[in-house]
Amino acid sequence: MATQRILDFLATRRPEGPCLVVDLEVVRDNYQAFRKALPNSRIFYAVKANPAPEILRLLASLGSCFDTASVAEIEMALDAGATADRISYGNTIKKERDIARAYDLGVRLFAVDCVEEVEKIARAAPGSQVFCRVLTDGAGAEWPLSRKFGCVPEMAVDVLRRAHHLGLDAYGVSFHVGSQQTDLSAWDRALADARSVFVKLAAEGINLRMVNMGGGFPTRYLTDVPTAQAYGEAIFDALSKHFGNHMPETIIEPGRGMVGNAGVIKSEVVLISRKSENDEARWVYLDIGKFGGLAETMDEAIRYPLVTPRDGDEVGPCIIAGPTCDSADVLYEKNMYPLPVSLTIGDEVLIEGTGAYTTTYASVAFNGFEPLKAYVI
Ligand SMILES: *Cc1c(COP(=O)(O)O)cnc(C)c1O
Repeated sequence: MATQRILDFLATRRPEGPCLVVDLEVVRDNYQAFRKALPNSRIFYAVKANPAPEILRLLASLGSCFDTASVAEIEMALDAGATADRISYGNTIKKERDIARAYDLGVRLFAVDCVEEVEKIARAAPGSQVFCRVLTDGAGAEWPLSRKFGCVPEMAVDVLRRAHHLGLDAYGVSFHVGSQQTDLSAWDRALADARSVFVKLAAEGINLRMVNMGGGFPTRYLTDVPTAQAYGEAIFDALSKHFGNHMPETIIEPGRGMVGNAGVIKSEVVLISRKSENDEARWVYLDIGKFGGLAETMDEAIRYPLVTPRDGDEVGPCIIAGPTCDSADVLYEKNMYPLPVSLTIGDEVLIEGTGAYTTTYASVAFNGFEPLKAYVI
């Protein structure tokens, strides 16, 4: 939703070209909602969702920890005021020299999903805490992350055993149920798997202590999503069901759910046309597309709410595309988007729910278009 502060900013500053405006008040509210919904979990903000320094500074000041994927993201979190003990290196794919740099910067918490990565960490970050990521099926998520990361729970047992024997602290298990996950039972299935790893290793005298429940908390796009409170209750119930009186420490890593609804992209209609005289659908070309930051429209996965100055008028089906000379730069075509028939070239279109996964996905200069500008207010 475009907040009043965002609308006022756009009305008074009139920034030229497409741009993202992020309202920090919304980020603050989201952080507090997570705190309240999951009071016993430490929050590690997934920096990749939006690494704007203002966002990182706000979250650091509120006490958030940070999930990072690279040395550069670790440095950003440190610059924002987080201490190294509040940073996890959560990418399961790391160069050994980057692990060593992270270790030099003080980071002692690392994600792994195979024995090969454990061996790197044992060499480059001796004695550190490691957690092993297990696969989930990603069912119910609009942006699944399943196959690339994690291993089956049986293998996680081997990975953590190896970590233990190499002098690392076999700390726990992690999973990510898939981004924009609206099925509350997804955490229940993943927690059952996590529990099985705990049980098998406990039988060998290796006592895991932590479950990292990842991200996946949704942003409202065109349809309602469960509240943070509903997620908190479902997760708490699943934790008690599987762990009973032996509750582990828990971590959550919200990215989208922390910043998605805090941002709005202002764009402009560059062209409206048809492909033939009796074409029913109009092609609406905006000044932002897949290469300007809207990469999550890939396969039409994320469908952003669009606000036009003509809302309320009669609507007709539109194919929405970006401004570049690549035919892949089409946002919505299979599932056409209804927009007012009165929409006109030059109209401003607000793309809502764009606070996450936009600025960093913009290309550097494809076709000479600048990367997406961002204002954090
Ligand atoms: C991307 C990512 C997140 C954030 O996911 P969201 O669905 O945006 O909340 C959390 N943890 C890890 C390891 C990630 O890669």
